[in-house]
Amino acid sequence: MGESNCIFCQIVDGEIPSHTVYEDDAVMAFLDANPLAEGHTLIIPKDHYSTMDEMPDAVGAAIGRALTQLAPVVENSVGANASTIGINNGEDAGQEIPHVHAHVIPRTPDDHGGSIHSIFGGTPEIGDDELTELAQDIETRI
Ligand code: 5GP
Ligand code: ZN
Repeated sequence: MGESNCIFCQIVDGEIPSHTVYEDDAVMAFLDANPLAEGHTLIIPKDHYSTMDEMPDAVGAAIGRALTQLAPVVENSVGANASTIGINNGEDAGQEIPHVHAHVIPRTPDDHGGSIHSIFGGTPEIGDDELTELAQDIETRI
């Protein structure tokens, strides 16, 4: 039983129908209801975690495994040779459904979509010293 007010938990529990493409003990994958491209697929943990940091390592590994297995299959099924794979991780990043989900969006040369870089208006000025300091800070926090 998932969170009663979570759409994706309701999909896992079979209370809301979905076009499911894959399921194992930890993970489920289904077609996005408002696809950005044909084959747009969502991969979710079956248990409810709002954001990535809440997921146990084993669940993260299961999501990663499903992504590597499914992305090429989804691409092939719609005749694409590439996909954009992304997670809106948290409300500030545009996450609308607070249950972790990875998007697999098949890409074609004429789809008029951009790269992940195109989400941002530009690149902030960050000097090399600052990069060194930041890398050390992140490393010590892991
Ligand atoms: P987010 O912005 O949270 O990363 O993306 C949520 C995604 O879930 C959107 O692409 C949206 O189309 C999809 N979505 C929302 N509600 C449903 C639903 O009930 N079923 C399915 N299959 N997808 C949904
Ligand atoms: Zn949920």
